[in-house]
Amino acid sequence: KVQNVVQQSGDVRDFYTFDKQLGKGNFGIVHLVFDKKTNEKFACKSISKRKLVTPEDVEDVKREIQIMNHLAGHKHVVNIRGTYEDKNFIHIVMELCSGGELFDRIAEAGHFSERRAAEVMRTIVSVVHHCHTMNVVHRDLKPENFLLTERGPNGVIKATDFGLSRFFKEGTQLDEIVGSPFYVAPEVLKRSYGKEADIWSCGVILYILLCGWPPFHGDSTQAIFKNILSAPLDLKSDPWPRISPDAKDCVRRMLARDPRKRLTADQVLNHPWMRENGAATDEAF
Ligand code: ADP
Ligand code: MG
Repeated sequence: KVQNVVQQSGDVRDFYTFDKQLGKGNFGIVHLVFDKKTNEKFACKSISKRKLVTPEDVEDVKREIQIMNHLAGHKHVVNIRGTYEDKNFIHIVMELCSGGELFDRIAEAGHFSERRAAEVMRTIVSVVHHCHTMNVVHRDLKPENFLLTERGPNGVIKATDFGLSRFFKEGTQLDEIVGSPFYVAPEVLKRSYGKEADIWSCGVILYILLCGWPPFHGDSTQAIFKNILSAPLDLKSDPWPRISPDAKDCVRRMLARDPRKRLTADQVLNHPWMRENGAATDEAF
């Protein structure tokens, strides 16, 4: 039993009606659910206990729930509402995001205008700032893990999937290679890293927002890793000549290979290009 973490007693189906499937990940299936009392909509991630083979797997789920509770209340973090456990599943009921993944919105648009990219990036980095202030490293920042509350211009971005997140102590280093190939920081590949790795991933997201493809790619995971470690950052090929020097400066400083030289979340938010009413313009190309 996932003790001390699952808070609600009783069967999840006594409180919620399950509707269509919204998504699927490595561990969980996410369904639309309705609160039986109020008829409000929520999302419920159901993690099959059959997939929790090792004690580490169980620890991971506990930690995911703990971290969601720890970060709750931030406008741009998916809010957790309750957790339930039955014979076969652990259920995490959370705020519903009906607008899909940021990933799909980028794919649809190809890339974003500088103004829109800066706006999205401010939100993403404000979440990262919140995580880091609360002593959490996310470790899996990518456009698939940012959801929108609704389609269209009123959609609010919410960070989700804290399945790989960890609590950290300032000054200590993590050593597991985790994350998603395109977004992994070079020091993660060298097995000694801290919260700066999250900023690298944000830099990759910003690069993609501006031009439509990742800064370091390749035909295999190994090829991607090799490029992350040593290929020059391309800010010259089309469409980069049409992107402002301030935007490029911000990308370059977020993708500094030396984590000590990389901007912190706070510094990104205060970069001239990123600041509200800052240098980012609406000139699309
Ligand atoms: P995993 O840890 O298994 O990757 P995620 O938490 O990323 O699981 O959820 C898997 C997918 O389910 C997401 O990519 C998304 O499409 C969908 N999903 C997750 N949470 C929500 C939510 N709160 N509202 C709507 N859809 C969601
Ligand atoms: Mg996921």
